[in-house]
Amino acid sequence: MPNSRAIAIFTDLDGTLLDHDTYGWDAARPALDRVKQLAIPLIAVSSKTLAELEHINQQSMLFDGLIGENGGVISLNGEIEQAGPSSETIDAARNQIRDAVSVPVGSFRTVSPEIIASETGLPLDDAIRAGQRHCSDPLIWQASKQDVTTARAIAEKWSLKLVKGGRFHTLCGPSTKGEAMKRILQWLALSQSGKSETSPPKRFTTIALGDSPNDIPMLAEADFAIQIPTKHGARTSPLLDHANLRIAPAPGPAGWNAAINDLLDQLTNTNKNSEVLHG
Ligand SMILES: [Mg+2]
Repeated sequence: MPNSRAIAIFTDLDGTLLDHDTYGWDAARPALDRVKQLAIPLIAVSSKTLAELEHINQQSMLFDGLIGENGGVISLNGEIEQAGPSSETIDAARNQIRDAVSVPVGSFRTVSPEIIASETGLPLDDAIRAGQRHCSDPLIWQASKQDVTTARAIAEKWSLKLVKGGRFHTLCGPSTKGEAMKRILQWLALSQSGKSETSPPKRFTTIALGDSPNDIPMLAEADFAIQIPTKHGARTSPLLDHANLRIAPAPGPAGWNAAINDLLDQLTNTNKNSEVLHG
């Protein structure tokens, strides 16, 4: 790369790179092609399972690394690391929540793939992969505010958290997307320094993109944070205080495309309309 500092991009999927309703990413194709052309590592950071992310990547070949289950499991260059809690801990905490709240509690680890499919709109094969969870469990419930408060307190007793994503409350470990991002950066730095004997990059300039509260630790960790506005709903206020936060001009992949192109115009000596502008 021509830059003294390498760039790495970390992106949430649902509602960020993938359209909230169709899960499509075509509108982001120009920026994705540019990222690939610049050999910028692109890391998927999602509440999805590793099985889901690997399947998406087999079809799309978009990602150089995968962070699943909100930071609980990391995959890079064939190496997998589980930072999250054991499935036994997750199950014990969820059972206690089920007994304590006022509404029925299902979850991805306990219901059939057919129910996961109907809750998410995923095809059945995808729903099966969504149920293959290492260390987190999205709850299927119609919770009141009090139920959420109760469940959060129980999760804390187990050193777990209840994180609100785009669609679900997910029971998961204290690992976050931000910590997993730091871990991937360590691995990336190692693999880069192995390739280049002269001046290996000391650190990466990092860009993170997300649309939900569970993306905040990742956005906070990044040098440049891009908030993707929600497709349904009025929220346009910033998710966090960040010196380099920008809000994309559109929801989903169209916003991803515009924001990444603008930032790469700024950070690299390339332009989306020409090969090299200067330097
Ligand atoms: Mg999202």
